[in-house]
Amino acid sequence: MQFEDLDLIEPILKALDDQNYTEPTPIQEKAIPLVLNRKDVLGCAQTGTGKTAAFAIPIIQHLYYNQQHKQHHRKIKALVITPTRELAIQIGDSFSTYSKYTQLRNTVIFGGVKQGAQVNALRNGVDVLVATPGRLLDLMDQGYIRLNDIEYFVLDEADRMLDMGFIHDIRKIIDKLPHKRQSLFFSATMPGKIVELSRKILNNPKKVEVTPASSTAETIQQYIYFTNREDKKNLLKHILEDQKMKQVLLFSKTKHGADKIARNLVKQKIKAAAIHGDKGQNQRQKALAQFKAGEVRVLVATDIAARGIDIDKLQYVINYDIPNISETYVHRIGRSGRAGENGVAISISEPEENSFVKDIEKLINQKISVVKDNPYPQTDKPMTDSEKKEWEKEKQKRKKEFFANRNLQGGKAKSRNHSRSRR
Ligand code: AMP
Repeated sequence: MQFEDLDLIEPILKALDDQNYTEPTPIQEKAIPLVLNRKDVLGCAQTGTGKTAAFAIPIIQHLYYNQQHKQHHRKIKALVITPTRELAIQIGDSFSTYSKYTQLRNTVIFGGVKQGAQVNALRNGVDVLVATPGRLLDLMDQGYIRLNDIEYFVLDEADRMLDMGFIHDIRKIIDKLPHKRQSLFFSATMPGKIVELSRKILNNPKKVEVTPASSTAETIQQYIYFTNREDKKNLLKHILEDQKMKQVLLFSKTKHGADKIARNLVKQKIKAAAIHGDKGQNQRQKALAQFKAGEVRVLVATDIAARGIDIDKLQYVINYDIPNISETYVHRIGRSGRAGENGVAISISEPEENSFVKDIEKLINQKISVVKDNPYPQTDKPMTDSEKKEWEKEKQKRKKEFFANRNLQGGKAKSRNHSRSRR
């Protein structure tokens, strides 16, 4: 199928042509006709499937027709809610790209930056507003935004919204929306809570599913290295010796871990940068721009920060740790092999994470290939429950000692080795 077969208006077809997009992705092929037919849609799709265009294109088409009939002061008619700043910016960019040959205007609002520029953009009038929940509510409370004229509402990445604790914010936003509207709801996974939320928002929706929540993109080759915790750093260095890996998105469980990994890589003369929630908006944008420009080879990110990253043809994803929630693994590796490109996902498991690997394999219903050519194979055993308890006690003891030391030294603790010493 071609975009021309989807009954799209000329200005949109022209914009798509500029992007060299000729064929719709499966989610676009399914969702665009439904949205054009004014149906509510429950979309089960990961990032990387082309879902942004799947909702942006038909909304632009509706708004374009409305605009032809009425020429009055612009009111916000389409609202897209998304969990992260990066994602919001990207969605805004997509709207701008696809509506390039229309007179429609969009703006993006998100927290972590001063509100002045965002308020000014709103004052100038927009047709489409892309927002993260917190800043939207904030500006609504201050009277800068009214949702009375919303005709199209999109809730994007619903599962992530819930994970990030946005449920109350979302409820407050929904309460302010007109009842008569078209709603689109997208989520990569569909656990019970999400289905429940979707029922509150959608009216007789059509379900569109591209990859079942538990399946991973077919174009992604998945590999795993089993190693010991203290060997991970060296193993990563070994993996990155493969110069084919020009652009790598590396996931870290924690912000602190992300910084540390990036620092270690830089020490090893590998160009790396970390992006996570504690970094300012400018720093994040800069790191992302450098990564996109090829100036940074390894972008180290936490799950939440990585959520909004859209890099064309990202081929390599490394999981420096194994997420304990299997769906997170699916989200992470979905960042490679985007839009039909081949992707490679490489995971590193330390003994304590071996059981998570089993959970993931169950969820994705396939075995991840174990890399045999591994100079740092796993020799340790995962801790038994009693060892874990012992280790927890030991950690508490060390923590107490650390603070006692710090008090003795007037606020500065003696540095000490906190590494695990079971062996
Ligand atoms: P998304 O899932 O919306 O984040 O989109 C993933 C990537 O696919 C983005 O870089 C889009 O620009 C790109 N994309 C979206 N639709 C198409 C298409 N029909 N053909 C080729 N690339 C596309």
